[in-house]
Amino acid sequence: MNLRDYIEEVPDFPEKGVSFKDITPLLEDPEAFAHAARALMDFTEGLKIDKVVGIESRGYFFAPLLAFRLGAGFIPARKPGKLPRKTRSQRYDLEYGNDALEIHEASISKGDRVLIHDDVLATGGTARAMCHLIENLGGHVVQCNFLIELGFLNGRDKLGGFPVKSLIAY
Ligand code: AMP
Repeated sequence: MNLRDYIEEVPDFPEKGVSFKDITPLLEDPEAFAHAARALMDFTEGLKIDKVVGIESRGYFFAPLLAFRLGAGFIPARKPGKLPRKTRSQRYDLEYGNDALEIHEASISKGDRVLIHDDVLATGGTARAMCHLIENLGGHVVQCNFLIELGFLNGRDKLGGFPVKSLIAY
């Protein structure tokens, strides 16, 4: 099955010059959805993982499935101001301006082995911020996995020593 057939490329969304990878056709197709979930699972073969972090919001489609299958907990990384208890925040640069992601401080225990998941690896800024946040809280990032990698943006390089896996490359 070629999963790329289930991804719609939408030019100039959400702004001019961006080719947006719309994964909703993949999510809507039961076989493609199951195939993608299994393939992402296969990336974690043999790894011991305590927590899976999903990045708001398109990281939430698969991260809880992975957590369930791995017998791990699921942690939603959220945009600022959404989580009610004591949070840790990490800022990161976007093409224009910056943004931040937060998790509850209590979500990570020292030595936790963590898998980070998001739909798309583009420049790598988002995932790198998440890796640093987890490691600053005493966790250990075991893998960052993505449905899609935009190879021409070299996000993998930005993730330095963190292991990266992706399913569909552009
Ligand atoms: P980056 O920090 O540049 O790696 O951007 C990754 C984040 O932006 C992910 O959460 C993606 O959901 C989103 N993103 C970036 N580029 C695209 C794209 N071309 N299509 C869909 N989502 C994207």
